[in-house]
Amino acid sequence: MERKVRVRFAPSPTGPLHIGGVRTALYNYLFAKKHGGDFLLRVEDTDQTRYVKGAEDYILEALKWCGITPDEGVGVGGEYGPYRQSERKEAGIYKKYVDQLVESGNAYYAFDTSEELDQMRENLKAAGVAAPQYNANSRNSMKNSLTLSAEEVQKRLDAGEPHVVRVKIPRNEEIKFQDLIRGWVVVHSANLDDKVLFKSDGMPTYHMANVVDDYMMKITHVIRGEEWLPSGPLHVLLYRFLGWEDVMPEFAHLPLILKPDGHGKLSKRDGDRLGFPVFPIEWKAPDGEISSGYREAGYFSEAHINMLAFLGWNPGTPQEIFSLEGLTEAFTLERVGKSGAKFDPDKTKWFNEQYLRAKTNEELAQLVKPLVEEKGYTYSNDDFLASVCDLMKERATFVQDLLNDNYLFVAPTAYDEKTLRKKWKENTPSIINELRLILEGISDFNSTNIETEFKAFLERNELGFGAVLPGFRLLVTGAGMGPSMFDICSLLGKEETLARIDSGLNKVGQLKEALQNG
Ligand code: GLU
Repeated sequence: MERKVRVRFAPSPTGPLHIGGVRTALYNYLFAKKHGGDFLLRVEDTDQTRYVKGAEDYILEALKWCGITPDEGVGVGGEYGPYRQSERKEAGIYKKYVDQLVESGNAYYAFDTSEELDQMRENLKAAGVAAPQYNANSRNSMKNSLTLSAEEVQKRLDAGEPHVVRVKIPRNEEIKFQDLIRGWVVVHSANLDDKVLFKSDGMPTYHMANVVDDYMMKITHVIRGEEWLPSGPLHVLLYRFLGWEDVMPEFAHLPLILKPDGHGKLSKRDGDRLGFPVFPIEWKAPDGEISSGYREAGYFSEAHINMLAFLGWNPGTPQEIFSLEGLTEAFTLERVGKSGAKFDPDKTKWFNEQYLRAKTNEELAQLVKPLVEEKGYTYSNDDFLASVCDLMKERATFVQDLLNDNYLFVAPTAYDEKTLRKKWKENTPSIINELRLILEGISDFNSTNIETEFKAFLERNELGFGAVLPGFRLLVTGAGMGPSMFDICSLLGKEETLARIDSGLNKVGQLKEALQNG
């Protein structure tokens, strides 16, 4: 029978979610939605030593900001809960399966102390073994239920002696599974060690809890980062040992996200060091240290998601802009690459620019409004803000960039020195004064009329743009460059434009003189 697609994102709350983790969540989400399935959020908190306060809340908030909404799991609930592994352990869920593995001879008790483990490693090193492990060879000389008598084992268990449970990796066997991204993965059992499944503190390890939970939560596809590929063979063995082979999920191991130069994995430490965030939202560590986030840097969450989707996947067409729904439709695991995807901070900005430009001026006006108010700028109405956004959006990456130039709100108090030096000539004031008369005579002061009159003025006086426009811009905006002057003047209105020319002519004249004398 076809099983309903069920996938999970299973982060460990050991710190903030790095964008690689968000991408894993996203691909899981897209795959689930594409197939009409369920997307679960499970918190894997079995390693108490690595638990970081605030990390779980951070994960929930980051996913929420990204619009990656779980159907089931922590923060949502569902019929396969609890979804936090620490709570599942409390409920005694794992113990029974560990016991089952010991009974069937696929796992065993090990009583070795840490000194004895160190000794074993040293002995093996001395004998020339490069990477000593607790495995099919070394286990025979250790203190475990394979080497001790049944009575001895029972005695130790009854006495409450600290012990772990280890998986008994079979000798001399090829373990195979098909990865949806990598194809066949074949590993010889001689390369695997007898991993601990159950710790002395009564907690299952990642491997045990992960497999048991995937089985119990009816997970059909395990989509996770490449760093978990080496765990694949052990997980496949556990499915077999527990008799769950017929419902074993399919595996898909996602490619790494690499540093911008392609050298090595993009790490949590790279972000602020290389000048861009590696976290979806800002993270404040328990010690107070702050790491920047995409949200706080001014990115739209849609742009962030769109960018992440392309780190390792492509639609096979030139289309680059996709909404979450569009991604859901286009996404397939077949189009996820095997090789690492280089993170490109410029492309990330490019995505944000596309989303900014796609917004209507009215939408942008609402976004820019609180910033305008924060700066204390006055403005007539929302239409004015919309026009400001229209004018500025071609040069902006973020909403806050729409206010990079403040001359649409306040008259200039400073004037671009380079323009003043190079473009302000002796005859500029008289040309501007004549232009002023023309402007004053325009009854309907809109961009088209201003442009028509301005051009006619140039023609009549046989002047080029370069002889008039820079000085004109300098007086009205204080800047050397910017969007269309006709649009700017029309937005400021006739009165303000003329006032700026009048007061500017004086100031600019004095500045020019000072420059010449200085
Ligand atoms: N808890 C693991 C992690 O932190 C989950 C790996 C998996 O998806 O199996 O990434």
